Amino acid sequence: MTTVQPNNAGNGSGAVARLLIVGPQGSGKGTQGVRIGEAFGIPVVSTGDIFRANIKEGTPLGQQVTEITQRGDLVPDELTSEIVRDRLTQDDAAAGFLLDGYPRNAVQVRHLDEFLAAKGEKLDAVILLDVARDESMARLRQRAVDQGRADDTEEAIAYRLDIYERETAPIIAVYGERGIVDTIDGTGELDAITARILSALEARGIVPATV
Ligand code: ADP
Repeated sequence: MTTVQPNNAGNGSGAVARLLIVGPQGSGKGTQGVRIGEAFGIPVVSTGDIFRANIKEGTPLGQQVTEITQRGDLVPDELTSEIVRDRLTQDDAAAGFLLDGYPRNAVQVRHLDEFLAAKGEKLDAVILLDVARDESMARLRQRAVDQGRADDTEEAIAYRLDIYERETAPIIAVYGERGIVDTIDGTGELDAITARILSALEARGIVPATV
């Protein structure tokens, strides 16, 4: 499949780390994901960014998902998983990756498990950014003003948070059973949050390679 990819390739100097960052809309996972990706020299694979880039470029994929994303609904699992598999097969993801926004429900967890298991791989850690719903809503209202994202209307925000609580929050328990979830307080200074994530990963022996 030919899809437009945002320019967020890693610098290739990091250790192998296969990570997922998860949290409600407005938790800051996009911002922190980029920082962690840079720290490890691994690409950040954000399904939301991939969809937005394709919508902006008017690709067939973009046209297919415009209305879905505007409503705040999920893009069909098969399509989303195919895009992620395609991205993770690229060379720069061989040394690890950080997933942001995928998997988002139980079916996508299964798709990812199958894809990684076929290569003898698995996720090393899941970073859960913990932020209360009130705080998320407040941050998203601000983002609506700052960025004017088409899906940051009051209605679409509440709808996406509902989907998060219903479909995405339960996958944390699945990863929790595997013992790979680190719950990180997502409030406070950006640098402090990044430091919390890095030290949780370090406690698992997941550290950026020194060059
Ligand atoms: P947010 O976390 O604020 O909802 P994202 O950038 O992660 O924003 O996603 C934006 C939209 O892209 C979602 O509302 C959904 O329509 C679509 N999307 C992103 N990731 C997925 C996914 N894993 N499965 C299905 N749809 C997705």
